[in-house]
Order: sequence, then C-alpha cells, then structure tokens
Amino acid sequence: MRTTTRRPFGVPPADVARAFLSPGPLFDPQGLAPDYWRWAGPLRAAGFEAGMVVHCAVSYHGTPLGWMFDGALRELGCTVIPAGTGNTELQVQMLRGLAATGYVGTPSALRILYEKAAELGARDLTLRRAFVAGEMLPPSLRRELQDLGPTVCQGYGTADLGALGYECLEREGMHVPTDAVVEIVDPRTGEALPSGAVGEVVATVNERTYPIIRFGTGDLALLTEEPCPCGRTGERIVRIVGRVGDAVKVRGMFVHPRQVDEVIARFPEVSRWQMVVTRDGARDLLTLRVVAAGELDATRLAQNVQDVIKVRPDVERADALADGAPKMRDLRTWE
Ligand SMILES: [Zn+2]
Repeated sequence: MRTTTRRPFGVPPADVARAFLSPGPLFDPQGLAPDYWRWAGPLRAAGFEAGMVVHCAVSYHGTPLGWMFDGALRELGCTVIPAGTGNTELQVQMLRGLAATGYVGTPSALRILYEKAAELGARDLTLRRAFVAGEMLPPSLRRELQDLGPTVCQGYGTADLGALGYECLEREGMHVPTDAVVEIVDPRTGEALPSGAVGEVVATVNERTYPIIRFGTGDLALLTEEPCPCGRTGERIVRIVGRVGDAVKVRGMFVHPRQVDEVIARFPEVSRWQMVVTRDGARDLLTLRVVAAGELDATRLAQNVQDVIKVRPDVERADALADGAPKMRDLRTWE
C-alpha cells in the first residue's frame, strides 16, 4: 500500500521550526536558522546591541511578526519582552518595571504607549532605541516620538520575505539588505524601472526552506543609489509611496475589498458598502458605511468584519452610495 506524506511547504516537517498564516491567504514556514528572517543586521544598524532589554510589541499569534524580531534580538544578545499587542496599561508596567531600553513595533503603538504612560503619570520610560515597521512613518510622527526619548529607525519587509529594507542611524532612506534582491518594476508590465522611478517593490530571497523569487509585494516605492553618509554601499529605498492595487494597509494589515464582500454576503439586509480609511493623529480609523434596509445589527457586523480583517471598523449607516463609488476610500495623508 502506498502512503503519501503531506508536505505543505515542499520540505520535510523536520526542516520547519514554526508555521504561520501570513497576513493574506498564505502559509509561511520558518526554517531552522536562529535569525531566519534576517532582521539582526537591520536592528544592529539601528543601534540595538547586546545587553539591551527590548519590548517587542508585535503579535506572536498566528503571524510570524513577533518571532521575526524576537529571533533577531536574541541573536544580538538582547533580552526580549514578548509583549505582543493590546493591554496598553500592562505594557507600560512592563516597560517601566523591566527598564526597557529598546522598542520594536508599529510607530502608532509606540505613541499609544507614551500616551498611556503620561495618563498614568509615568514619566520614567527609559527607551533609547525604537525600530518601527508595519505602517507609514510620517516625519511629524517620527519627530514627536524622538522628542520623547528614543531614536526612531524604520524597517521594511513582509511576513513572507522578512527584512527588505532598514534605516541606519542616519535615517536617510532604507538600505536594502545584501541577502535580498529588491527591484522596482512597472506594476502593469513587470518591467524593471530605472533608479529614482516609482514602481512596485518586487523582491527575491534565496532561502533554502522557502525560496521566493520575484515576489510582488504590492507596495510602491523608489530606490536611490546615492551613497549613505554611514558608508554602507548599495541601493536604498527612498520611501514607500503606497499600495499598488485596491488593497489598503490599515494598522499594518492589508484590507482587500474581497474580504469585506465575503462578510457582507452574510448580511442580506446590506445592499451597498464602502470602507473609508482616515487617520486620527497616529491611528488609522476604519469606517464601514453601509446602505441597509430595515434593522441592522451593527455590532455583529463590526465583529464579523474584525474577525476577517483583524481591524474593527466603525459601522455607519448611509442613505445612499453612488453607483460606481469605490469600495475602499483611503483618505489618509502622509505629511
Ligand atoms: Zn546608512
């Protein structure tokens, strides 16, 4: 009798340390290397070093994010506080009680931690270095955070590919790591674009467990070859401009209209919908405008949407939505 072994990643299970559902409908493996997603170099460039106590405020559940930074920080010799997300008050207690000197997470979550600390009358946070990723970092927010104490460097990467860009302490664009290939291409034709042109980030990571070749990230960016004052050579990502398709990134998660359509299909009373993304200070706000007949359980709808896209929208009833109105409206600006 012939038996078959299911190998979801194409390598033996013994070669996979952990398995994840990435943000999107993909399963991602983690290979056996201690710093599998290659963030140790970027964190070192941002001033992280052995002996630091680092608050890692990204999710460890289901997605690779927490493990990505955790492994890299351990590789550097840092003590990691696996704080994850949520429960801000408890997080502030950990930051203070353990005298954390480093922070890894989204910039908006860092701001919320400082706001909570101020609310609790705690002015003794000891953060010196912050490495932020997963969201846009407007210059105004960076200034605000740096005024509170830490130097703020940003990184760029994806759950599938790991590190693709990082700022050194000069903070003049993001260096492309030497172990990744980043190309900027025309999103319609796939043709490579010259340095300085805005196009889609397409990346290649030649990793044995999970080699990824010319993966289209859906992010729009531009590269420069001008040398960085820090002395590192090679290309830098000047900045991430936005998203290519209809999907928008909200609080670090991609939200695609198709995901919302699936939820709306369970609410026959809703005839039309539109998701509006705005920004209040450093926080993305999601409003789901719906045209509905009769009663509508807005709480249940918000919960169902949150279950799918991981971000809870405010549900707002609208009298009408125009024919051909976009399903996703991104009204955020990045000054
Ligand atoms: Zn540099």
